[in-house]
Formats: sequence, C-alpha cells, structure tokens
Amino acid sequence: MPHPHFLFTDGTTLDAGTIYGIGKNYAAHAREMGGEVPASPMVFLKPPAALVQSGGTVVCPPFSTNLHHEVEMVVVIGEDCADISADKAQSVIAGYGLGLDMTLRDLQSAAKQQGSPWAVAKGFRTSAPISRILPASLFTHIPDFELELSVNSVVRQKSSTKLMERSVATLVEYLSSVFTLRKGDCIYTGTPEGVGQVVAGDVLEARMNPEVGIFAGAQALLLSVTIA
Ligand code: MG
Repeated sequence: MPHPHFLFTDGTTLDAGTIYGIGKNYAAHAREMGGEVPASPMVFLKPPAALVQSGGTVVCPPFSTNLHHEVEMVVVIGEDCADISADKAQSVIAGYGLGLDMTLRDLQSAAKQQGSPWAVAKGFRTSAPISRILPASLFTHIPDFELELSVNSVVRQKSSTKLMERSVATLVEYLSSVFTLRKGDCIYTGTPEGVGQVVAGDVLEARMNPEVGIFAGAQALLLSVTIA
C-alpha cells in the first residue's frame, strides 16, 4: 500500500502527515448546523490514510446512513514549524488543493450529544478526497479561491474562501501555536453552506478556481469521486 501522499500540479509528490480539519469556519454553514462560529477555532483530525485521490471512491461504512459532502480548500504545509505568526504563514505553505471533508452526519450528531470525539464520523476510511495541489510558488500571496461542488451535475455548494471567518494565515498561526506542524501535514479549512447527503452511485464533482487576475500560471483544480 503506497504511503498517503499529495500530487502537485508540477508533477512532484509529498508524503502526507496529519490532516487537520477546521469546523464552522463559514458563518452560513455554522448557522445551517444550528450553531455559531466558535470563539476559538474548532479543530479535529483525520488519519493520513483517509486521503483519496481524484477519480477514486468514497465508501460509506455500514454503520452510517447519512454520509454528507463538505467541499473545502486545503492548505498543505511545506516545512516543520511551530509558533508561526500570521504574517509569516505564507512561508510555511507548500500548496493549495481542493478537498472533500466527508462526514458521517448521524455519527457526528450522536457524538456531539454524547460529548464524544468525532474521530469515526470525520476520519473513517476514504473520508478525505483530495485534488492535485497547486504549488504555493505560483502565488505572490495567500490566494482566495471560488469553490463549487456538484452532485450528479446539480450544484450543491458554491462559495468563496473570502467568506472564511478565520483566514488561512490565522489558522496556521493558531494550529502552529498548539501543535508542531510538519512538512506534509494539511489543513481542511472548513466548508461553506449547502452540505447534504450523498448515497451509493452518486458522482461528486468539485472545482476550485483561483481568484482572477492576480498571478500567472495557476489553473482551476478539479476533484471527482464516486460514492459506494
Ligand atoms: Mg468540514
């Protein structure tokens, strides 16, 4: 079994480490979940082996009947680091990708009620589809992206990372104040509104466009997975 890894658009690869997930980072999604943007970042983890490359399959485990999609921008960390201030965050980023934070919403709801961890609901096998990664070197600053997700060709989620409550720089500052970030770690930065259920046979197609007119050479990223 190959080590979980990221594929960059320039053909290079990077072994994947810890996957950090951020909850409720868009106000409209926090509201649709019946909550508010938390006072401190809400952090959860997925194991690296949860990654699925585009073209792969997400398998809903038999103990869940409510698998949800969450389209998200993903930041890949490029060096081991700790205590990075927001103004230095760009220097530790290797690239930007498009991910799906697949979530077993029924198990997550039960875990919330019981005060239990989200590891199963968020970290089950195949829970982290990931696109190719745009190298950070294409950008003069941390860029914003438009995000879109379709299920069976019907648009379900459409937003911009400009609407994130906590920016990429802020998230890097916060996470690196708590954890030692390592080269190959990544951050699923939260989902906008429009999350919903998918079932076996559904085809998910996501797209992430860099904001227009501020750099050269970056391309739209595509991510496609099938549900089984
Ligand atoms: Mg999420």
